[in-house]
Amino acid sequence: MTSTISTPRTTDATGTRSRRPVPTPTPDTEFYWTEAAAGRLVVRRCLDCDVAYFYPRDFCPECLSTNVDWLPCSGRATLHTFVIEHRPGPGYEDDLPYVVAVVDLEEGPRMMTNIVGIEPDPDLLDLDMPLTVVFERRGEIAVPMFEPATGAAR
Ligand SMILES: [Zn+2]
Repeated sequence: MTSTISTPRTTDATGTRSRRPVPTPTPDTEFYWTEAAAGRLVVRRCLDCDVAYFYPRDFCPECLSTNVDWLPCSGRATLHTFVIEHRPGPGYEDDLPYVVAVVDLEEGPRMMTNIVGIEPDPDLLDLDMPLTVVFERRGEIAVPMFEPATGAAR
């Protein structure tokens, strides 16, 4: 089934036009997106049970405490799993194929993301391979993605 959802085109800082969806910050995620726009990845951390978690929300998913803070991340992660997408999601029609992945942040949380900066070839994508965050500009928003860590041994 082909999706017919249309998304507005946005122009990034380099003038590149993209139809990729632009996330809308909510009260729970506004700080996350503000930090991302500045090139910083943050997650939430519970000050009662010391669990770091993603996606951002104002209560801990482990113990339901609202005593939570923001945790700056190193940007380092490892590849947990991935698929190489050959049928586009809305806005990704010009980008096939692309890699949809789940990565393990060094701080603990798992994040769904895209792997960029590498050919979408299963022979090049190794589970547990080291990754580093990069940010893709979509208008005012910067979306965290991951690429192979520089100097990573293969
Ligand atoms: Zn907790």
